[in-house]
Amino acid sequence: MGMLSIDFFGSYSPVGDVIVLGTCFVFAVLMHNAYISDSDAYSLFRRIIFVLYLSANFSIVFHVLLVRRETVPHFFLYLFLILYHVSLYLQLLLYIQYMKMPLRMNADTFKHMVIPACIAFGVCTLYEIIAPITGWGFYITENKEIHEGFNFFPVGYCYFVLTIMYLLIAYRKRVYRQVINGIMFSTLISFLILLLQIRNDNSSFTVASYLFPAFAILYMIHSNPYDLEIGAVDALAFEQIIDYANKRGRKMLIMSLLLVDLDIEGKEYPEAIKDAVRRFAGEYFKGATLFQVSNGRLFLVVDMSKNPSYEQIINRMLNSFDEEYPKYKLDYKIIITPTMDRIVHGKDYIGLIHYAESGTALDTVHIVDETDVEEFLKHKYILEELMDICKKKDLDDPRVEVFCQPVLNIETKKYDTAEALMRISLRDTGRIFPDVFIPMAEEHGLIHQLSLIILHKTCERIREMMVEGYNIQRISINISALELRDDDFCKDVSEVIKSSGIPFGKVAIELTESQSESDFRIMKKKILELKENGIKFYLDDFGTGYSNFERIMELPFDIIKFDRSMVLASNADEKSEKMVSHLAGMFSEMNYSVLYEGVETDTDEEHCVKMNAKYLQGYKYSRPIPLERLTEYFEKDVS
Ligand code: C2E
Ligand code: CA
Ligand code: CA
Repeated sequence: MGMLSIDFFGSYSPVGDVIVLGTCFVFAVLMHNAYISDSDAYSLFRRIIFVLYLSANFSIVFHVLLVRRETVPHFFLYLFLILYHVSLYLQLLLYIQYMKMPLRMNADTFKHMVIPACIAFGVCTLYEIIAPITGWGFYITENKEIHEGFNFFPVGYCYFVLTIMYLLIAYRKRVYRQVINGIMFSTLISFLILLLQIRNDNSSFTVASYLFPAFAILYMIHSNPYDLEIGAVDALAFEQIIDYANKRGRKMLIMSLLLVDLDIEGKEYPEAIKDAVRRFAGEYFKGATLFQVSNGRLFLVVDMSKNPSYEQIINRMLNSFDEEYPKYKLDYKIIITPTMDRIVHGKDYIGLIHYAESGTALDTVHIVDETDVEEFLKHKYILEELMDICKKKDLDDPRVEVFCQPVLNIETKKYDTAEALMRISLRDTGRIFPDVFIPMAEEHGLIHQLSLIILHKTCERIREMMVEGYNIQRISINISALELRDDDFCKDVSEVIKSSGIPFGKVAIELTESQSESDFRIMKKKILELKENGIKFYLDDFGTGYSNFERIMELPFDIIKFDRSMVLASNADEKSEKMVSHLAGMFSEMNYSVLYEGVETDTDEEHCVKMNAKYLQGYKYSRPIPLERLTEYFEKDVS
């Protein structure tokens, strides 16, 4: 038919709308086949594309009817013009609604933006409907001519575009600049195309101009980093798919493969592994998605309702894995878990799998069970509480408890020192012990704040007992080597002691030997700095690791704590007793005091006394007790 030269909105040719139809098909194919994580924003985006597709159809039908206006009933002409314009408005309204998610608007601001936009949408729609009736806008006259009237469309269009622009500018700080730029630029291009159309008295590209922002959004927001070699998407995409599935009540199956040797950032996968992974991911389940959560850690996620016989499939898959795997000679751990109601977030499944892995032997498969989930949730709860304790920075936090174990001074035969030992008391778990929480606190950088609380509470107790007239030489607290790396360590410790008003010498710090040279340097520097103030230092757990005497001698410790293993060794045979005794004697000669830990029986005590002990500590004298009960062991000064 070529160019239809008509007077309405300029000349029209269907090229623009046909391009839109073609592009919508391309979008559909892309969105179906590329991996895009499902989300509310993405489902809204799909709706926008669908309305775009409708607009192009309405536009084509309207323009065809317009040419045939001599023969077709005018009602259809008006109907399709209304559908055409209203669907364009609707897209703009959906874009405004869409903005809520990437711009992270709260419900209130969103209401302020979307209510006026809905009203505008209503007004525009109403005008489109009444215009042909009232004669204000477009209608066909008695003699089949076109009456243009006032075309309201550009007014409505400008309102929506300005609102979108305003949102992008007002909220630009909330999104990556590149995303804002991409959307802004494409919206501008659309606007320019419309202007160009008007200048050239053309109306073929009205719908096509809407394509540009759609491209920008698909590319900038809904594309996921895809690893071409392995064919996997990243951890963030995994979290999104799980969050979304949970929201929709869909049960997923997660199969995690950890390749232990490749669990290092940037380490290359061997070619054969890449092929095998792609094959395993594609061959067994319907619609499985592969995620590379981190290097060497792959998750295959499957919708269980699409694979009702998943149990058999898992067995088949693991069987062929067993047959094939030995040839790769790489250690692995496989964890399999379904999603469940008690764990909601994708992030927590990564945590659960990590947790399950820590208790799984190399080259085995573990299927997550109730106990794993129970323990993981407990672990997670404890960690969250520890984080909360550290965030609140309350030195009197009641969740951190100080227990202490009195230490017997052999020379005076009295208890005048003690060791402070940490306990954590939580609502859901009750009291928990250091073997549970110290490794967690160390791993997550929380140990220093906990130590400061212990130090504070210990200092307060020392002050009280001094005021009450007790003979209290000092209490030692345990400090992890990690904490010393903190530049503020000395300052923090000094401040806490100073604010309690007790002499620095009433506090001691227990440290264990460090393995690395750099930690040793740091330790030496910190000890020397705090010794200036008068704080005492104990070497803890002597005899448990590889002791480096040269290094120990370089550090000005006051007391060497011999571990219980040394006490046990001395019980075993005379030769060992002699050796431990000599070691202790050597330390004593060099002005270190020797403390034996873990003295449980009378025999233990006898040996220790023979072996140059100055202090004794252990269950024989007292189990760790709450700080308040220290008065049961300590004596008041007689003066
Ligand atoms: P540690 O510093 O060697 O503390 C001595 C541990 O031995 C304590 O366990 C104590 O209850 C236990 N013990 C005392 N007497 C005996 C005995 O006669 N026989 C035996 N078999 N054991 C005895 P606890 O309180 O469970 O603490 C374990 C470890 O946790 C501590 O070992 C220490 O390394 C760490 N820890 C405790 N509190 C803190 C703290 O405030 N900060 C840091 N960084 N670590 C702490
Ligand atoms: Ca200790
Ligand atoms: Ca110890």
